[in-house]
Amino acid sequence: MSGKPPPIPDTITDAYWRRLGEGFLAAPQCAGCDRMWLPPSPACPHCWSTSHELVDCSGKGRLVTWTVYHRSYHPAFAESVPYAVGLVELDEGPRLFAGIDTQDPATLTSGMPLVLFLEEREGGFRVPVFRPGKAMEK
Ligand SMILES: [Zn+2]
Repeated sequence: MSGKPPPIPDTITDAYWRRLGEGFLAAPQCAGCDRMWLPPSPACPHCWSTSHELVDCSGKGRLVTWTVYHRSYHPAFAESVPYAVGLVELDEGPRLFAGIDTQDPATLTSGMPLVLFLEEREGGFRVPVFRPGKAMEK
């Protein structure tokens, strides 16, 4: 356990966080236009349909852009500095912000393949984090 704060689910994100707790990154998929998105929201951001279901994603994606934090804004992140946070585009299409776990943030490049792993948090939560690489890891 990292000591990093757990997520705070609400009625919109509760199923998403529960699915992560079960070991799967899932995204809403629209019944109207078939597109997927993150973070979870009550309506499809593409066609505004409110009919959708959570669908598991592969955990594979690519790095779109990122920033490197050289200062901690929470005590639990102090030992992680410097650390990267990136915009990840999943193979299925949704984009999400997530931690990018790398020993050397200077090696990150736009478009590099990433794989998901789940970081344990207090309360049984798991948070999506990505590592450079092509193979699926858990
Ligand atoms: Zn839609």
